[in-house]
Amino acid sequence: MRKHYDMIAIGAGSGGLSAVERASEYGKKCAVVEVNQVGGTCVNVGCVPKKVMWFAANAAQTIKNSNGFGFDISINDFSWTKLKDGRENYINGINEWYDGYLEKLGIDYFHGFGKLIDKNTISVNGENLTADTIVLSPGGEPSVPKIEGAKYGITSDGFFELNELPKRVAVVGGGYIGVELAGVLNSLGSEVSLFVRSQKLLNGFDELIQSSLENDYREHGIKIEFGTSIDKISKDKTLHTNKGDFSGYEQIIWTVGRDPLTQHLGLENAGVKTDQRGFILTNKFQKTNIGNIYALGDATGRAPLTPVAIAAGRRLSDRLYNNMKNRRLSYENIPTVVFTHPPIGTIGMTEEEARKKFKNVKVYQSQFTPMADALSDHKTTTALKLVCVNNNEKVVGCHIMGHGADEMLQGFAVAIKMGATKKQFDDTVAIHPTSAEELVTMR
Ligand SMILES: Cc1cc2nc3c(=O)[nH]c(=O)nc-3n(C[C@H](O)[C@H](O)[C@H](O)COP(=O)(O)OP(=O)(O)OC[C@H]3O[C@@H](n4cnc5c(N)ncnc54)[C@H](O)[C@@H]3O)c2cc1C
Repeated sequence: MRKHYDMIAIGAGSGGLSAVERASEYGKKCAVVEVNQVGGTCVNVGCVPKKVMWFAANAAQTIKNSNGFGFDISINDFSWTKLKDGRENYINGINEWYDGYLEKLGIDYFHGFGKLIDKNTISVNGENLTADTIVLSPGGEPSVPKIEGAKYGITSDGFFELNELPKRVAVVGGGYIGVELAGVLNSLGSEVSLFVRSQKLLNGFDELIQSSLENDYREHGIKIEFGTSIDKISKDKTLHTNKGDFSGYEQIIWTVGRDPLTQHLGLENAGVKTDQRGFILTNKFQKTNIGNIYALGDATGRAPLTPVAIAAGRRLSDRLYNNMKNRRLSYENIPTVVFTHPPIGTIGMTEEEARKKFKNVKVYQSQFTPMADALSDHKTTTALKLVCVNNNEKVVGCHIMGHGADEMLQGFAVAIKMGATKKQFDDTVAIHPTSAEELVTMR
């Protein structure tokens, strides 16, 4: 293999792969360095296995709900092992596909830990590679609090390694990974307690979504302890907290954030700057303070989502190698979905953010039991909110919780990205009977 490249990416996750893939399509000679598995967090311990689990949880709920539609069905057995094996086979298939794909594109793959030696050199497995452009895309890892007994808990990575469904689980953290895992475990039959430091689930989300999710989760048996800080964990997995001791858990899952994997990357050898938490500082063109070094994805601390890392990577190569001088990712109006039960889709400003920024804010909202649940005992909430500003009622925020929200949001995101107004929403003929039609008929 050669030793000098046009572009080398450290990290073969969503960001790194996208940058070298696009660059190689422009005829550039590229390499990617990966210490774990190609595909990174999303494919191996993130979006993909999580979504498989979410589908499994949905299947469990559908079976339970089918009674209301006249089916006499009971669940005789549920095999976590079968589910886990199926999930792992599916992911192995994606990993194998990547091998062929990299080869087809002529991208050299180095399996090992990549470290910057200087601004053009990376060492991997004792070998030095050089490149004109270096892309840092090392992603992150789950944070574990620095408290006594933290080791008795697992992280989201550990969740995917579990060999059986835990009977009683404490999930610590009310961010998107925490509420997603809590929902999956609850639907599959675990008894779940969520311990949250703040007073709300999903910090930063619109209040309607936060309260609707809290109500639904409580209704479906998830215990939520707000305002809880954990002092230590004892060996029997008792949580010692400011609100007393909580015990009897088979598993404790830390979902308290993610740290960037930048500590051992050799950033100091090239002079690349980070913030205090280790996130790599970049400008709006993904450029670090060192001219030929760029950073993408979770390690930059901005909107840690797969499509964000992919879009930033592709745009970077478009700009560098296809003369698209101003091409870059705008971090505004990024749609995102939380795979709770039911799912949540959100884009743009919350009502609170809009009221801080604009004088003239009008909000349309609606909350109801969806028709899908009309005949079942297991009712969920559908909650929808449009945040509109100024006299023309430009829609600057759209927040949805409910069956189908995950698939519903993408199209509305296009409209919002294009600057749609409430009137344009209303001028669109509704599709009936759906939950989505509410978004074009709200008064
Ligand atoms: C449980 C969970 C669920 C998620 N669900 C979603 C979802 O539903 N939707 C969504 O959009 N996002 C989701 N995410 C986030 C998504 O996975 C990340 O935003 C995305 O993977 C970031 O891509 P990245 O390229 O920045 O980093 P990563 O995908 O993490 O890739 C970085 C890669 O770099 C490698 N690496 C690190 N350091 C080195 C080194 N020095 N040398 C060689 N290799 C190195 C790592 O092993 C890793 O493979 C989820 C994340 C988690 C943890």
